[in-house]
Amino acid sequence: MKSKKSPAPQKRWALLRRSTNTGLRWLGEIAAQEGAKLYLVGGVVRDRLLGKKTLDIDLACEGNVQRLGERLAKELGTRFLYYPPFKTGTLQGPKGERIDIARTRKEGYPKPGELPKVEPASITDDLHRRDFTVNAMAQSLHPSDFGNLLDPLKGQRDLKKRLIRVLHDKSFTDDPTRIFRAVRYAERFSFRIEPHTLVLLKKAVKRTPVLSGERHLYELRCIAQEPKEVRVRTIKRLESLGALAFLGKPLAPLSPTRLGRIKESCEFLCLLLSLFDETHVKKLPVKKACLETTSTLREARKILSSLARLRTPSQITFYLNNYDQRGLGIIAETTRAKSCDKIARYLEDYSNVKISTTGDDLKRLGIQPGPRYKELLDNLLASKLDARVRNKREEQALLGHWLREK
Ligand code: ATP
Repeated sequence: MKSKKSPAPQKRWALLRRSTNTGLRWLGEIAAQEGAKLYLVGGVVRDRLLGKKTLDIDLACEGNVQRLGERLAKELGTRFLYYPPFKTGTLQGPKGERIDIARTRKEGYPKPGELPKVEPASITDDLHRRDFTVNAMAQSLHPSDFGNLLDPLKGQRDLKKRLIRVLHDKSFTDDPTRIFRAVRYAERFSFRIEPHTLVLLKKAVKRTPVLSGERHLYELRCIAQEPKEVRVRTIKRLESLGALAFLGKPLAPLSPTRLGRIKESCEFLCLLLSLFDETHVKKLPVKKACLETTSTLREARKILSSLARLRTPSQITFYLNNYDQRGLGIIAETTRAKSCDKIARYLEDYSNVKISTTGDDLKRLGIQPGPRYKELLDNLLASKLDARVRNKREEQALLGHWLREK
């Protein structure tokens, strides 16, 4: 008789990647063996009901998350990264797949806008702590009722009606990040924000903001990761609702057009931040590299008008060397000015030009080390950029000429 061998981890991951019933059933069976009940939960259920593909699998577990996670990690040939204070953990697959497992829980908000206090509870309690009805559904993976939809808050009805609806009137006060999430989902799925929810959202926007810079920034990053048109619409709508007041001044009329021209999400975030007030933006925990990009972006107008007067490759290069290259790339990508060609040439060509002469060569020529070195090397670079020299021999000849002139 043939022994029934379990499939190799790679095959398991392939099944899970496609969220096949075989893969999901297997997860439920392993959980049952570990004495736990497992559910697909949140966005993944919403997306399955909408017939959309999901990359990550979110699971809620009634039972011991650590024990289950470690067992699954063993079966899947990976590690389980467990965070005891939150009773959550992650399994990472060979192709960047992610399975998040969290203990089903209840939440209480000590103060509006703060992170919630959590304690283990049932799946039904867990669904009641969520943001919107369409995100508050679960599907059982337990062998006894596999595939059964748990929908105590009528998420499926709202999915059909294409509505974003909060679960209770204090939702936005408890957690103002839901203001951003509501608009983002509405724009992503072209859903409406249900009228009473919209009234609550507008009221919440009017109250003094209580979110930390870190949480604000996280929401902006999530928006930046949406598809191109969705993120621009989301920003426009949040701004018209007054939800971006934490960033200072209002957006200029042409800003959405510029934002719409950006491809990369991290560049989108930099451009977005540069369109608002600098002192407000500096309160967010933005990385240094991003701040450098935004400060170049803030000078876009000055850079473009200065460039209009600069003609030679060396003039352009020495001027643009003072700015952040990613910022310059964004200016070229999002503005329609003649000088953008000069930026493009600088980024693609001039900024890569190097001379062959070094400080050691100058030393060999008996020149005393000092500020003169930079002056000479810069002049040589300018000559190379402007095609007056092509190689080391010509550089040396020009250098000799300058030294004789002195
Ligand atoms: P996507 O990843 O496609 O944007 P998602 O719904 O999976 O959508 P996540 O941010 O990964 O979004 O959150 C997973 C689930 O956790 C949500 O579906 C929702 O049920 C719950 N959730 C996330 N953030 C909140 C929040 N601020 N308040 C309440 N529930 C939340």
